[in-house]
Amino acid sequence: MNVVYEPKGRAREYSELACNLYRGCTHGCRYCYAPSCMRTTGEKWHAKAEPRPDVLKNLDKDAEKLRGDKRRILFCFSSDPYQPLERVERLTHRALRIIARHRLNSQVLTKGCADLIQEDLGLMKEASTQLGVTLCFSDDATRKIWEPGASTVDERMAVLKAAHKEGLFTWVSLEPVIDPVQALEVIHMAHPYVAFWKVGKLNHMKEYERAVNWTEFLYDVEALLTKVGAKYYIKNDLRSFVAKQ
Ligand code: SF4
Repeated sequence: MNVVYEPKGRAREYSELACNLYRGCTHGCRYCYAPSCMRTTGEKWHAKAEPRPDVLKNLDKDAEKLRGDKRRILFCFSSDPYQPLERVERLTHRALRIIARHRLNSQVLTKGCADLIQEDLGLMKEASTQLGVTLCFSDDATRKIWEPGASTVDERMAVLKAAHKEGLFTWVSLEPVIDPVQALEVIHMAHPYVAFWKVGKLNHMKEYERAVNWTEFLYDVEALLTKVGAKYYIKNDLRSFVAKQ
């Protein structure tokens, strides 16, 4: 395969297959791991996004080879599929059309432009795409500090509500947890519209990690998700970190 690949490590807990449509991501999240994975600096990776050369042509070829494969292809790990450049390029829109045509399974993970996501909800339904939204903060002022170029908390909530109403399978990536109080508040706010939760801790930012009591958070988050009847997955990094305490 050319552009569809099998993620390794922590990313594997999200998806067995993935495809990155853009190079770079202008959301500029402070906790972003993509620059180190792509062996570049945050300054360069977040300065601009551009389409990967021939990505749709190669996706079409990969999709042909994957015919009948039930594994979900995730768009995207190293960039947001609904970042502002999608308004011009429509790579994600066209990628979902390719997926629908080849009857493959897919999922989207985004904190991007809400209007573009909403326009694609019908297409996602046609393609049986599962829609994942990253939502770690309930307070938009904090969100703006950590995810300056991404959509607001209200916009993400509106996307989840609309997708749920459309009958799509929705999931939330509650990762990286930075403020446990806000993470729990997100569950209170969004659980009626969310079919599945993935919860993971902050990594590689020791100063902020140390400020969180992860044992207490793990207990609280599982208690709350159970109380509201939610289906969820706790990522290995959080479980194993707490087990070592
Ligand atoms: S949306 Fe993802 S890839 Fe883009 S800056 Fe944020 S963490 Fe990095």
